[in-house]
Amino acid sequence: MLSFVKQLVKQLFKKPSTNPFPCKHVPKSFTHLMEEVEKGKAKINKPIKTPPRFRGRLIYHEDKCIRCKQCIRVCPAKALEFDEKNNRIKHYVSRCTFCGQCVDICPVKALEQSDEFLLADYNKDAGFLIPEKKQ
Ligand code: SF4
Ligand code: SF4
Repeated sequence: MLSFVKQLVKQLFKKPSTNPFPCKHVPKSFTHLMEEVEKGKAKINKPIKTPPRFRGRLIYHEDKCIRCKQCIRVCPAKALEFDEKNNRIKHYVSRCTFCGQCVDICPVKALEQSDEFLLADYNKDAGFLIPEKKQ
C-alpha cells in the first residue's frame, strides 16, 4: 500500500510521457488548424524522433531501378504495380503495410523506407515519397 502511495505522489509531479502531437486537443478540422498555424494563431507540437530503422513511406529511386518487378511479386498487399505507360513502378500508399519486403528484395537498392509517417492525403492514389523530399 505504501509503495502504491509513493508511486502515486511521484506521478503527480511527473511530466506526461506522451507527446501531444500535433496539439493538445484533437481539433475539429485539421485544415482549419493548419490555416491558424500559418497565420501564427496556433502552434503545433513537433512529433518525436522516429526510432532507427523505422519503416515509413517508401522512396523510389527510379534512376537505379532495373524494372525486374521482383518488388511487385513479393508485395503481400498488392500495393505495387508496373506502370507500363511511364515505365516505372507505381505505389499505392493506402494499401501498403510497410512490411519492407520490397525493399529487402530489390537487387539494386532502388527502394528504401523513409521516416515519413504522416500519410493522410486527398489523393487516394498517392504514391512514393519523392527522393528530393527526404529530409
Ligand atoms: S512495404 Fe510491403 S506492403 Fe508496402 S509496397 Fe513494400 S512489400 Fe508491399
Ligand atoms: S525490385 Fe527494385 S529494381 Fe526491381 S523493379 Fe522493383 S524497384 Fe525496380
